[in-house]
Amino acid sequence: MAEFDLIARLTARAGARGDVALGIGDDAALLEVPAGEQLVACCDALNEGVHFLPGTDPADIGWKALAVNLSDLAAMGARPAWALLSLTLPRADADFVDAFMRGFSALADAAGTALVGGDTTSGPLSICVTALGCVPRGQALTRAGARPGDAVFVSGTLGDASAALEHLRPMGPRHPGEGRSDDDFPMFLRDRLHRPTPRIALGQALRGVANAVIDVSDGLLADLGHIARASGVGIELDAEALPASAALRTLLDPAERLRCQATGGDDYELVFTVPSERWETLRAIFPPEFRGALPITPSPPLAGEGAGVRGAFPAVTRIGRVVAGEGVRVLDADGVPVDFDRAGWEHFMDKVP
Ligand code: ADP
Ligand code: MG
Repeated sequence: MAEFDLIARLTARAGARGDVALGIGDDAALLEVPAGEQLVACCDALNEGVHFLPGTDPADIGWKALAVNLSDLAAMGARPAWALLSLTLPRADADFVDAFMRGFSALADAAGTALVGGDTTSGPLSICVTALGCVPRGQALTRAGARPGDAVFVSGTLGDASAALEHLRPMGPRHPGEGRSDDDFPMFLRDRLHRPTPRIALGQALRGVANAVIDVSDGLLADLGHIARASGVGIELDAEALPASAALRTLLDPAERLRCQATGGDDYELVFTVPSERWETLRAIFPPEFRGALPITPSPPLAGEGAGVRGAFPAVTRIGRVVAGEGVRVLDADGVPVDFDRAGWEHFMDKVP
């Protein structure tokens, strides 16, 4: 099978949008950005052995390659519209491409995103997606707006994906005595690693409400560190308030769970800061059935995922506050800072200082 047959297989499920003036097939795509809006662009690569384990289901890789990018758009408050896909494959593997596109287009269709171009080359397996979206001019959410006095909120639950990664990676579970076969491993946690749900609807709803937003990709502490630096503030988190899924509570003891929640990557939840005068606005953007689980005082999120890709919101939990100063601290129930040996994941380093 040659490059052009592969491209035909890839693009058969590209999806359609009225704002694609010229899609796949020419040298570049032509896209219509609505008047009064800004184009929001991001690009994230997934490399075998770094971002996913060898042997990962290609459909999961396809989903996640798009999901991590839509999560970045969500963290900007953007509406996703288009994607480009650069695919590097060791060989012309039609089965891989078909499975990959099954996962990719399942999410693309759910998120209303059209594949409008890309590149297909040979080399070590690597996937790079560029996602493009739109935001009303001047309304994008950034990392830079947090102010002392803001409360810090996070969507969904934390630590699920990193717990799954530690369990499923080739060296096996962290604790040799606790061997579980992969078949027994909770599907919920496996899905949190392989099929993250970008919080697209929530991100758009936070426009005009949140002062600063970031998605949790490298680890809560590492990513909140970016908000703290960009905003020139400090952040205090309450260890007890960090939301954990029932599956994570069952799998890990409290100390290990906290480590995964605070420093594990790959959650793709939104973490954001909201000034007190907008807490009621935040509450009001949630449909009534979610309000009970909502913020203001720390409370556990709703059971189950509870959130689709588009339309529905995940539960949101208040986890801390923005303070004057710098850095991010996690405080235990007695207000004593908890030490972690790393804040999260960083390429080319074994830990984030
Ligand atoms: P060029 O040589 O001009 O770069 P290509 O032969 O690489 O064009 O691609 C032909 C068309 O197919 C282009 O419109 C390109 O955007 C699209 N395309 C190639 N690979 C992919 C892919 N992996 N996903 C989506 N579109 C692709
Ligand atoms: Mg090309």
